[in-house]
Amino acid sequence: MPETYTAPVTRLWDSDVLVVGGGPAGVIAAVAAARSGASVTLIERYGFLGGNSTQILDRFCGFFTPGPDPQKIVGGLPDEVIDALFRLHAADYHMCPYSDAQLITYNPDVLKVIWERLALDAGVRLLGHVQVIDVLREGDRVTGVIGAGKSGLISLGAAVIVDASGDADVAFRAGVPCEGAETGGLQALTTTFRLINVDTDRAGQVAPGTLHAMMVEANARGDYDLPRHQGSASLTCMPGVVATNMTKVTDIDVTDPCQMTGAEIEGRQQAMEYARFLIEQVPGYERAELGGLSTQIGIRESRRIRGQYRLTRDDIVAGRVFEDAIARCAWPIEDHHARPDTRWERVAQGGTFDIPYRCLVPQAVEGLLVAGRCLSGDHDAHASVRVMAQCMAMGQAAGVGAAWAAQRGLSPGDVPVWEIQDQIRAWGALI
Ligand SMILES: Cc1cc2nc3c(=O)[nH]c(=O)nc-3n(C[C@H](O)[C@H](O)[C@H](O)COP(=O)(O)OP(=O)(O)OC[C@H]3O[C@@H](n4cnc5c(N)ncnc54)[C@H](O)[C@@H]3O)c2cc1C
Repeated sequence: MPETYTAPVTRLWDSDVLVVGGGPAGVIAAVAAARSGASVTLIERYGFLGGNSTQILDRFCGFFTPGPDPQKIVGGLPDEVIDALFRLHAADYHMCPYSDAQLITYNPDVLKVIWERLALDAGVRLLGHVQVIDVLREGDRVTGVIGAGKSGLISLGAAVIVDASGDADVAFRAGVPCEGAETGGLQALTTTFRLINVDTDRAGQVAPGTLHAMMVEANARGDYDLPRHQGSASLTCMPGVVATNMTKVTDIDVTDPCQMTGAEIEGRQQAMEYARFLIEQVPGYERAELGGLSTQIGIRESRRIRGQYRLTRDDIVAGRVFEDAIARCAWPIEDHHARPDTRWERVAQGGTFDIPYRCLVPQAVEGLLVAGRCLSGDHDAHASVRVMAQCMAMGQAAGVGAAWAAQRGLSPGDVPVWEIQDQIRAWGALI
């Protein structure tokens, strides 16, 4: 039986736009809204920004089309992040043998500082160490959020909220219909880890197929317990450092803290086992050591909202274009399902498809947009558009839409999309 509990709530300030979640989508949304003239607050549950980009990862996917002749398809504010990384010698281009795509690898600790500088320079007010747990509503309009911090409960008001929590926490609490976490069939979770002191010249010679075959053999001999026979060990922009994406924890409801506690423990145990395998079995790793585990286990998929349009697998494989396009994507469907392999399915003829603005506009609730991996789409569409360049591109459009809705007293869905398109094109968006 649910228990009822009431506690005092301290009211903090109001903003034109409140962004919940400081991942790639949320930071870019906050910056875009601030540059569009709105007063903006960004709330993040950790003490640093970046979401998966700094908690778990070290490479941006999705900026380029895959294949031998990569075309850049995401631009605008996301370019400022990349430029800042290169200026600080903290990034490199990397042709990924696993996805046949050009990626940008970076130092995630430098990126933490870049994200916050970008936000602060734009005038965004940052509030860390607060987890949003509920919303304030007036009728069908969401008017603010309730967050939990060490000092207790707080509330903040806003004309428009952008839910960039990745898990659609705000949308779900506000009553937006969602699929995913509650309906199951989600992608697996992964604890990433880094190895240091790797002989990267020799390690880089080990082809993905060879590495995967070694995993299968090691398992078959009974020497190791490796639940996933694929995954990547990738060179980074840091000398002697290899970043992995290997562990696999399945069938977890990521909104259940009890299940997540078990997933974190299982992910770390698997990381230790994969590290042992690499060090003992794979050329180049003989003198390597564990250099760090991800801040938390990586969540690929949780809640996806039901929006004014639901992007589908058909849209992706057909390379569909939309009049209200706010971003393009060429990343394949990359489905880390429960089995030991990963399912890849490419966009037709190595092309691109569009992400419509309507995927960011929720059903049933006013005053709200989403950006990033909680967009409206089916499982397969999500498995493509969730990569970080596209999440940033969604944030760019959501920030402009939210700011103009707040300033003009409009519903975010009623802001003319062509105006948003014009603004983001002026910043350099490639739509
Ligand atoms: C293991 C793994 C490997 C991946 N590999 C790649 C890769 O190599 N390249 C790539 O481009 N993409 C990769 N992805 C996908 C990509 O990282 C994510 O889809 C992307 O980061 C989503 O961005 P986002 O801003 O929507 O959400 P997130 O990055 O998840 O950010 C959400 C933010 O909101 C905060 N937050 C959540 N809930 C609340 C709350 N209630 N209150 C306050 N704050 C909250 C979180 O702390 C976080 O900072 C990978 C994902 C995983 C899990």
